[in-house]
Amino acid sequence: MSDCIFCKIIAGEIPSFKIYEDDDILAYLDINPFTKGHTLVIPKAHSANLLETGDDRLATVMAGVRKVAAHLKAALPCDGFNIMQNNGAAAGQTVNHLHFHIIPRYRGEELAFKAHPGDMAGLQALCGRLRMA
Ligand code: 5GP
Ligand code: ZN
Repeated sequence: MSDCIFCKIIAGEIPSFKIYEDDDILAYLDINPFTKGHTLVIPKAHSANLLETGDDRLATVMAGVRKVAAHLKAALPCDGFNIMQNNGAAAGQTVNHLHFHIIPRYRGEELAFKAHPGDMAGLQALCGRLRMA
């Protein structure tokens, strides 16, 4: 896609700190890292988000996410990692080319993903509404 910055990175029109590449995926450091080693993994074929990506391509990208995450864990090294994948502006997606964030985590280093105690009755009602066949 001509106006997609991640497609431009794939094409080499925008520089990147590339750490892995094969025929299907590319992995490079995020220029605004949450933590040291924060990496993005993207498919080379453009699709906007999770829902617009076919199962086969997604399986290929996820295998790449695992491969790169295993490498980061050993090579940084880090103590753990989070995988984040945003869909839609309301969820914080700023680049409309499917990408997975690998966010390395280090023991003792706080990173706030704020949760709050759930209301059990509310959760039960919601579960009843959302349960899939
Ligand atoms: P999103 O918020 O869409 O899930 O994540 C987009 C990510 O892409 C952000 O974390 C942002 O820092 C990163 N990003 C945006 N432009 C560039 C770029 O030109 N190069 C790299 N390496 N990362 C970028
Ligand atoms: Zn793209």
